[in-house]
Amino acid sequence: MNWISNYVRPKINSLFSRREVPENLWTKCPECGTMLFHRELKDNLYVCPSCEHHMAISPRERFHEIFDGGIFTPVSVPDPIADPLQFRDQKRYPDRLKAAQKSTGETEAMLVAEGEMGRTPIVAAAQDFSFMGGSMSMYVGNAIIAAATRAVELKRPLILFSAAGGARMQEGILALMQMPRTTVALQMLKEAGLPYIVVLTHPTTGGVTASYAMLGDIHIAEPNALICFAGPRVIEQTIGEKLPDGFQRAEYLLDHGMLDRVTDRRKMRDELIAITRMLLGATPPVAGDLPAPAAEPDSDEKAAEKSAAKPEAKPGTGDKKDAPKAKSDPAKK
Ligand SMILES: [Zn+2]
Repeated sequence: MNWISNYVRPKINSLFSRREVPENLWTKCPECGTMLFHRELKDNLYVCPSCEHHMAISPRERFHEIFDGGIFTPVSVPDPIADPLQFRDQKRYPDRLKAAQKSTGETEAMLVAEGEMGRTPIVAAAQDFSFMGGSMSMYVGNAIIAAATRAVELKRPLILFSAAGGARMQEGILALMQMPRTTVALQMLKEAGLPYIVVLTHPTTGGVTASYAMLGDIHIAEPNALICFAGPRVIEQTIGEKLPDGFQRAEYLLDHGMLDRVTDRRKMRDELIAITRMLLGATPPVAGDLPAPAAEPDSDEKAAEKSAAKPEAKPGTGDKKDAPKAKSDPAKK
């Protein structure tokens, strides 16, 4: 029993054991190779601070960023028939699904939510590339139909973030059938006169670009996103020619009139707010007028509600309770 063995030695041991940093704290930028600390990367919305490379972002984190105060309500999506073709390659399809569910923590490759963005009520859907390559399955088709139905029901604009490797081969023709199904669903939005905005992220390919990803009123892409039907390698092999630099990348498509804008992810929310307001015929946002994206949900929600409810009310009058809520009234801005 002495000071050295009881106090100094454990202290030294704890110092060294703390050095064993878990691997997932650091991410290497695939573009420039810079090592990035996970929190720094998260705060920067998974955009590399040194080369501006846009890495993948999960639907949940995306929604946390675009909705006011990071608050949103998931919209329920009906479950399709499980493994309709009894498909098996190296693994059984249900096993692949289970593995993807475990690694992403999501049910399927698309998440639908409703909430407010810059105090404009919207419905949003986001595709998850980390879930089996974001492939378009029957569930994804159901998710888009659920999103479109909900948007029409609530008379809200729909914003869709696409990221996909194409249709899910394990569902064969049933996956391909989601192209006409989603096209019909989106037609409901057009008939209801509601805006449909698509944000194309890296990569958006295959059947997805042949259906819902290219049917928006406005198409915005993230920088350097690959957007194509057939990939550059396939085209090169087929035509036997070298393709130009930046072929099928967002900037190339913008130059060739396939997109309306290419926008940095960190400016995406502000731009989407401005565009939805413009399409809804509301007044454009004024600087400092909007609630912050995702900080402390509680304080932000309160602040947003307070300023939305009574902008002319003097602070401290204590009459915010009976003020009308700005929710579910897109026309009133
Ligand atoms: Zn980088």
